[in-house]
Amino acid sequence: METKKEYTDKTLTCRDCGKEFTFTAGEQDFYAQKGFQNEPTRCPECRASRKSSNGRRG
Ligand SMILES: [Zn+2]
Repeated sequence: METKKEYTDKTLTCRDCGKEFTFTAGEQDFYAQKGFQNEPTRCPECRASRKSSNGRRG
């Protein structure tokens, strides 16, 4: 049997562009599974642009 933690959507502010974005329950679950301790500090757009600019695909 699996125990599932329940998450709720959270609104965070991007440190790059200052825009508010949603850290969704699904993303929080994903982060927890990966063992990430920190919440995302950038909105998906800024994360995407950083990703594409360093040329690696993950
Ligand atoms: Zn941003």
